[in-house]
Amino acid sequence: METVLSYLVPILLIVGSVVFMEWFATWSHKHIMHGWGWGWHKSHHEPHDDALEKNDLYALVFAGVAILLFLAGEWWRPLTWIGLGVTIYGFLYFVLHDGLVHQRWPFKYIPRKGYLKRVYQAHRMHHAVKGKEGCVSFGFVYAQPVDKLVKQLQTNRKTIDETVLDNEDERPVLH
Ligand SMILES: [Zn+2]
Ligand SMILES: [Zn+2]
Repeated sequence: METVLSYLVPILLIVGSVVFMEWFATWSHKHIMHGWGWGWHKSHHEPHDDALEKNDLYALVFAGVAILLFLAGEWWRPLTWIGLGVTIYGFLYFVLHDGLVHQRWPFKYIPRKGYLKRVYQAHRMHHAVKGKEGCVSFGFVYAQPVDKLVKQLQTNRKTIDETVLDNEDERPVLH
């Protein structure tokens, strides 16, 4: 029992933290980054040729939180597992959002089916609206099907930029 628990508790804390982080990232993307935190996030919704965006500061803040959790974990072990969950989430965010959708890595891969396609399309729909108001799909790992997002945009009375979904060869210009 002792040994089962010694594995189970860390695993639950890690998985729980990853799930919590997706919820928290979705919430803060909607209410902070598209609210009073738009000053940093705006850079991510405008076309540019720079390697870095002011929006990357948010990733640094989350990385700082993970580091603090690891440090505090020396004093109370469960915080290490929570810190590991936050780090894994950061990795998923980087691969799915920065890599897959925004192609900030040196190769191009556009998913054609399944979960990856859904995540890819959902986040492109997030960028289908200009500015901070009336956007849809604020999550990064969980994504709704694209037809649901189109309906939400219609209720938000937003005209969408259709080109976000059908770029096959061009590097997308997102805003
Ligand atoms: Zn956004
Ligand atoms: Zn984005």
